[in-house]
Amino acid sequence: MPLLFHSTNGQSPPVNLRAALLAGQAPDRGLYFPQSFPRFSFNELAQFPCLPYHEIAFRVLSKFTDGIVPPAELAKFCQDAYNFPVPLEVINFRTFLMRLDQGPTASFKDFAAQMMARLFGKFLREDGRQVTILTATSGDTGSAVAHAFHKIPGVRVVVLFPIAEVSESQRKLMTTLKDNVRTVAVDGKFDDCQAMVKRAFADADLKHIPLSSANSINIGRLLPQSVYYFYAASRVAQAGEPIVFSVPSGNFGDMMGAVVAREMGLPVRKIIAAVNDNDAFPRFLATGNYEKISPSRNSLSNAMNVGHASNLARLVAVYGGQMDETGRISRAPDLAVMRQEIFSTSVSDERTVTGIREFWNQYQLLLEPHGSVAWRGFQDWAAQEPLGSSPAVIVETANPAKFPEEVEKVVGWAPDVPANMLASLRLPEDYDHLAADYAKFKNYLLAAHA
Ligand SMILES: *Cc1c(COP(=O)(O)O)cnc(C)c1O
Repeated sequence: MPLLFHSTNGQSPPVNLRAALLAGQAPDRGLYFPQSFPRFSFNELAQFPCLPYHEIAFRVLSKFTDGIVPPAELAKFCQDAYNFPVPLEVINFRTFLMRLDQGPTASFKDFAAQMMARLFGKFLREDGRQVTILTATSGDTGSAVAHAFHKIPGVRVVVLFPIAEVSESQRKLMTTLKDNVRTVAVDGKFDDCQAMVKRAFADADLKHIPLSSANSINIGRLLPQSVYYFYAASRVAQAGEPIVFSVPSGNFGDMMGAVVAREMGLPVRKIIAAVNDNDAFPRFLATGNYEKISPSRNSLSNAMNVGHASNLARLVAVYGGQMDETGRISRAPDLAVMRQEIFSTSVSDERTVTGIREFWNQYQLLLEPHGSVAWRGFQDWAAQEPLGSSPAVIVETANPAKFPEEVEKVVGWAPDVPANMLASLRLPEDYDHLAADYAKFKNYLLAAHA
């Protein structure tokens, strides 16, 4: 019996992983989540320290793909997708920096996008179907998705990005691919791009175009993001020893990976969800009142400028509550237990900048703004609950070279650009240009699928 996924809104029938992945969102607008979690035994986890990353990925993901993806095929997907290093650098004593920035587009979004593209490609091939993946991006999602789905048969990718809000290197990582990837520069803000994508999904005139999404509401993004928490623990903690994770958070897909790992049996002492000025979650944790931030606030850690984290519905469900897609809570989660297991704090831009500087001066390790938010979040937690001898892992989600101006302003020099990024930066760009006008975008989609 394959594992089933139910909707957080509770109005759609449970489905298997294949259906949940292809649909993205449940028909009742809720998010798919496992009905129950497969668990690792102590002895299974005790083997992980001897296994390479791709093998840990295989053991974790196969618990969800049982009966859907043959083991040999999944093993091959893991080997092909996870062929880059996952460095754990010592900060001090038993506190480590995990760099999730060595994938093809130098952000942690590669971990999920690479696996999702392989699963999508397989399912579409079997069904003889085609889909168009429509994505709005503030920078990292678009490039990770475009690279992962590039040249996958049966898939077209359309990425919308705000022309003035993405950095040059972020843009070039998307616009130099061509083939089945089309990028559209929009004269507007990220919010405009996202609104246009949402309207396209709901537009009856576009029903003949099979649209799908690869953003963090898709369960296919969450499961691969649990693997690096198992990996980190296997490298820095003793078997059975609880670990602390600090995760820079926007839509809370990354930190939910840590929650999934814990639900599957990984011993976790605390999960720190560090946010920028968009502080709806730390306020909720403190007061029990949830008020989303609208419009979202602009911060240096721009991939986390999210006023209402879509994955909160899943987090609330883990603690017995129910939240709909608009952020309305119809059943309160157990806040007392949530506070024991999760800490959350808001980090200002000023502390983000000084965090990069102090971290460099003290440890000679380079952070970019998102990683600095995680570091500050860890400090805030450690100031009120002594770390003792617990192992701790701070998650760095992007390569400092993706934010050269911000980093140079603080440390005085520009970070080295990784080889995979350099290659993209040298290729010719090709992208379309549209006003932030839904009618124009709709015509564009219709013409592209004529
Ligand atoms: C997307 C992103 C985040 C936020 O991740 P969520 O899963 O949305 O919380 C953090 N850092 C970087 C660099 C990102 O691209």
